[in-house]
Amino acid sequence: MAHPTGIQKDSLQALLARERDRYIDARPHSQALAHRAQSHLLYGVPLHWMTDWGTPFPLFVEAAKGASFHDVDGHSYVDFCLGDTGAMFGHAPEPVAAAVVRQTQLGFTTMLPGEDAAVVGELLAQRFGLPCWQFAMTATDANRFVIRWARAVTGRSKVLVFNGCYHGTVDDVFVDLVEGQPSQRDSLLGQVYDLTQHTVVVEFNDLDSLRQALTAGDIACVLAEPAMTNVGMVLPQPGYWQAARELIRAAGTLFVCDETHTISTGPGGYALAHGLEPDFFVLGKPVGGGVPCAVYGFTSELAQRMQASKSAAPPGHSGIGTTLTANALAMCAMRANLAEVMTDEAYAHMFELAERLANGLRQIIGQRGLPWCVSQVGARTEFQFCAQPPRNGSEAEAAMDHTLEHALHLYLLNRGILITPFHNMMLVCPATTAADVDRLIATLAAALDELLT
Ligand code: PMP
Repeated sequence: MAHPTGIQKDSLQALLARERDRYIDARPHSQALAHRAQSHLLYGVPLHWMTDWGTPFPLFVEAAKGASFHDVDGHSYVDFCLGDTGAMFGHAPEPVAAAVVRQTQLGFTTMLPGEDAAVVGELLAQRFGLPCWQFAMTATDANRFVIRWARAVTGRSKVLVFNGCYHGTVDDVFVDLVEGQPSQRDSLLGQVYDLTQHTVVVEFNDLDSLRQALTAGDIACVLAEPAMTNVGMVLPQPGYWQAARELIRAAGTLFVCDETHTISTGPGGYALAHGLEPDFFVLGKPVGGGVPCAVYGFTSELAQRMQASKSAAPPGHSGIGTTLTANALAMCAMRANLAEVMTDEAYAHMFELAERLANGLRQIIGQRGLPWCVSQVGARTEFQFCAQPPRNGSEAEAAMDHTLEHALHLYLLNRGILITPFHNMMLVCPATTAADVDRLIATLAAALDELLT
C-alpha cells in the first residue's frame, strides 16, 4: 500500500541502512572524538540534543567559513543549515570577524556600556522602525524578558501562543493543543508548575479561536512568529495578520513578534515588510553574526509604561537581564553585523538563490509525482511531506515523517550537503552560490530516485 509520503517503507529502511554504513566508514576521526567525549560529556556531546541529528554519531566540525565548513575527517560541506539561523549571514562574516579580533585587545565584559551600545541602538531603530531597545544573550532570554515586561505593564497574567510554536526554552510557551485541549508538552523536563494556567494556545490562521481567546481581556501578550517555522513551515493566509493584529490591539493585548527565524524575510523582518506594527520585536540568533546575543525593541508608549512599572516596584532584582548580556564582544559583533553584513545587497542575493532553490525543489518533486509541497519565507525554504501547504501547527505536525527526514538528511550529508535537522529547512547566505543550490537539488533528486526504485 502506498505510504502517505509517497515513499515505501522498505526502500526507506534500505536506504537508511546504506547511508548509515557510509557515514560510519568515512568518519573515523569523528567517531574517535565521539568515543572520547563520552567520558565526560553527558551523551558525549556538550548539549544533549546534539545526538538528535540523524547521524550514527555526531559529526565533529573543524572549521566553518561563509557557506561551508569541514569536519575533522577532512570532508567539506555546503551548509544550508547555517547553525539553524545563527549563521544566516554566513559563518564568521569578515566584518564581524574583524570587529571581534579588534575587541580581543579591548576587553569582553565590564557590565558597563561603551560607544558600540549607542551605535547599535541607532542601527536597530533605523532598521526596524522601533525607537527603544534592550538586549539579551539568546532569543530564549529575549522572549522570557518580553513576557515579563508584558505582564508587568498590562497587569495581566496570560500569554497566548500558537499550537506547534517554538520560541526557545521559555517554559510558558510549552503548551500544545491535544485533541483541542491545552496540554503541557510531555517532553518538557523538570517542570513542576501547571503551565496551562497562564498560557492560552490556539491554532494559527484561525481568527475565530483567536477572537474568542481574547474576549476575557486577561491576555498580556500574543507571542508569535509571523510565519511559523519550527513545526515545518506554516505561512499566514492572506489577510490573516491584518485581522489578527486588529483583534489583538482591540483587546488591549500586546503583540510580540518573534523574528528570530523570519528575519529571512528582509532587512527589516516580516513585520516591517508586511506592516504588522508589533509592540515588541524580538530577534536572536543571527543578529550578532553568530556571536551570542539577542535584541528586543518596543514602541515609545511601551517604553513609558515599562519605566512606570519599574518605578512602581521596590528596588531589587527585576528578573530581567543576565550578567554577560550586552557585553562588549556582543555589542561590537552586532554593530559590525547590522552595519556591514545584513545589507540590502546581501538579502537580494539570498532571495535570488532561495527562489532558485524553491523552484528547483518544486520541479524535482513534481517530476516524481510526490505529494509534497515547498514553502518559502525570503531566504528560508522548506519542503514538507504533504500536498498542500499546512494551515496550522496540527496539519504541519501530521505531515512530518522523521525516518524519511533522517534518511534524506543523511544521504545529503554523505555527499557534502547539510540541511537543518528535525524538519526540512534550508537557508541560503550571502556566500552561497547558484552552483551550491543546484548541487543540493540534484543530490536530493538522486536520493528520491533511489527511494522510488
Ligand atoms: N524563537 C524562535 C522563533 C526560534 O526558532 C528559536 C530557536 N529555534 C528561538 C526563539 C530560541 O533561540 P535560542 O535557542 O537561540 O534561544
